[in-house]
Amino acid sequence: MHTDMICEVIVDIAHSDVDKIFDYACDFPVEAGTRVAVPFGRSAATGFVMRVKDSSDYPAEKLKKIYRAEEDFPALNAECLALAHTIAARYRVPMALVLRLFLPAEMRTGKVGETYRTFARLVSDMPPAKNAPQQAACLAFLKENGEADAAILRKMFGAAVNALVKKGAVALERRRVLRDPYRGVEGEYRPRALTPAQSAAVTRVGETQKTVVLLHGVTGSGKTEIYLTLIAQALERGQTALFLVPEISLTPQMLSQLRARFGSAAAILHSGLSAGERFDEWHRLREGTARIAIGARSAIFAPVENVGVIVIDEEHDGSYLSESSPRYNTLDVACLRAEYNGCKLVLGSATPSVETYRRAKEGEFELITLPDRINARPLPDVRIVDMRREVRRGNASPFSVALREGLENCLREGQQAILFLNRRGFAQTVLCRDCGYVAKCEHCDVALTYHSEENCLKCHYCGTRYKMLTACPECGSAHIYYAGTGTQRVVGELKKLYPSARILRMDNDTTSGKEGHYRILKKFADREADILVGTQMVAKGHDFPLVTLVGILDADMSLHFPDYRSGERTFQLVTQVAGRSGRAEKKGDVILQTYDPENYILRFAAAYDYEGFYRHEIALRAAAMFPPFARIVRVMITSDKDADALEALREVYGRLQKLYEAHTGDFLFFNRMHAPIKRIQGKFRYQVLMRLTAEKLLENIYDEVSAVRPKNALVYVEENPSNLS
Ligand code: ADP
Ligand code: ZN
Ligand code: ZN
Repeated sequence: MHTDMICEVIVDIAHSDVDKIFDYACDFPVEAGTRVAVPFGRSAATGFVMRVKDSSDYPAEKLKKIYRAEEDFPALNAECLALAHTIAARYRVPMALVLRLFLPAEMRTGKVGETYRTFARLVSDMPPAKNAPQQAACLAFLKENGEADAAILRKMFGAAVNALVKKGAVALERRRVLRDPYRGVEGEYRPRALTPAQSAAVTRVGETQKTVVLLHGVTGSGKTEIYLTLIAQALERGQTALFLVPEISLTPQMLSQLRARFGSAAAILHSGLSAGERFDEWHRLREGTARIAIGARSAIFAPVENVGVIVIDEEHDGSYLSESSPRYNTLDVACLRAEYNGCKLVLGSATPSVETYRRAKEGEFELITLPDRINARPLPDVRIVDMRREVRRGNASPFSVALREGLENCLREGQQAILFLNRRGFAQTVLCRDCGYVAKCEHCDVALTYHSEENCLKCHYCGTRYKMLTACPECGSAHIYYAGTGTQRVVGELKKLYPSARILRMDNDTTSGKEGHYRILKKFADREADILVGTQMVAKGHDFPLVTLVGILDADMSLHFPDYRSGERTFQLVTQVAGRSGRAEKKGDVILQTYDPENYILRFAAAYDYEGFYRHEIALRAAAMFPPFARIVRVMITSDKDADALEALREVYGRLQKLYEAHTGDFLFFNRMHAPIKRIQGKFRYQVLMRLTAEKLLENIYDEVSAVRPKNALVYVEENPSNLS
């Protein structure tokens, strides 16, 4: 047997037992990064060529042969391969799992392929037969219009098309066509001069020796224009760019701006695209016809080469932390890519995360501050309203007197308002006022949520539906009470107060479907509504010039969340929502309703005092030894069977306990327990929870955990998880 070369292959099976390099012989030319079909065990599998070499330590007759390449180009470029090695080692996950991050899922599963269409084109100028008027018409049409879609042509001219093909007058050609997910999203690009502050920021990014730049600019300071300028500069240098935003489908203005400015050079990757569209966008990036990858977290793995700049907008956003394996931190991956390419990584936010800001303060990152809005527009005034007093005065509605006055003003003057609340559904929990019983999910041990459209209770963790209660199952009382206010109730109350106002509601219930968010926001932007009521998603970076009033209905809700970052989250949320007000000529107002008006977080947020908030918060973290002064590590163990989970827990805990005993001084906390939610989707959940002062122990923890081979249980490590439920 003659073989030209040997390939090192990772088989695309995400199991630690096969997580190693296999040598295969290959008798056709192939490059590293190519997906290949290989014999594996008694069947066939897909694999990735990691390296091509001349010889193997295995005897040639023992090597199996690669069947074929899956594509005629390497799906993974050299940088992706290098990055994959680092990530696999850092998070101790099988290489196959890491490599999958770089590919659209559709490519692996083979469910979506390219779309092809057949085009018809005129090849000879021969005159049509006299007695064939359809053929004559078809030829005339092609002469006039050039090439045409064969299917359409057949609808117009029927059998004449095939007759012409037979005669050789018309040629058919099957060609790949790319789906365009943003047809109809148009905008007009009007170049405008940067403000002095913006150009100074652009210059600083170009000049600093540091790889990472934190752009700390108040809402409305023009950060977007800075990003786009940096991206345009990268393109001019012949390079590519990565532009990450928390949720691209939430920001229609951003989409049309990008389309207008960069046209088809921008590929937009997001969860709202169909499988086929995502596949095509990926493909355009891989082949280089698109040079800017725009999208959420996963766009950091976009297959572009020669990256000139990486931008992460709203860097503090929780969505940048992956919550499924591999549990990577987007910032870490972005740093690796920036270093590999020798380019800048620009992080932007009005409310940087405490950790990022500390790194900037300490000199690791370049810090650029934009303290003013564009054209020195004032930030809106934030008024804190004590809701306890409203209740004492007999106002049981979700709106304080001040907010009502604000809304009336706003409606009278033809401006727009946004009302923000921290929840979804009609009401949050259902409880018995006599005995305190709370309706909970049988599988998940979390409180159920009442949904009035369907008059049922739903579990938000597993989606199970329950009948609405009419009496308490514990004590029989009929005093069933809905705690909390949902968007729907707010809309109901608004309609009663302002019957002629046009109201839009946006939350997870109203925005399912592909373009749900986009449609609602577009309507609001087009002035088809006066008031937008919504949850977290109305807080994101929208720019609605007519909004002059923002009402935060329950500012303290997120303060009571069991998470060391709840203060930080609340500050970010309040600042972000407030920032939607008064972005154009007219000054904006913000009414912040709370049952805790003295709270320092709310006070700093109302005063736009990020520095004050940061100093206070970092002192608290240092005193309590929370990140960034310590690292919280949780090892999760889940299984369908309680016994299997416990068995795995015992082994994990045993191993970690040895580590704990050897390094007790580096642990602030170490214990095993049920996870706060004992079951989710029928899976039993346990955890070993740790708080560490020493970074180096992280390695050891990964070592210990990856040495465990649990039966029927999933075991994984989470670093500073954003959700400890
Ligand atoms: P940020 O992202 O910092 O919240 P934006 O980028 O949304 O701020 O900018 C705020 C507003 O200022 C937007 O309406 C934007 O169109 C406008 N803007 C930004 N840069 C300029 C500029 N150089 N000249 C005029 N208007 C600008
Ligand atoms: Zn009861
Ligand atoms: Zn459930």
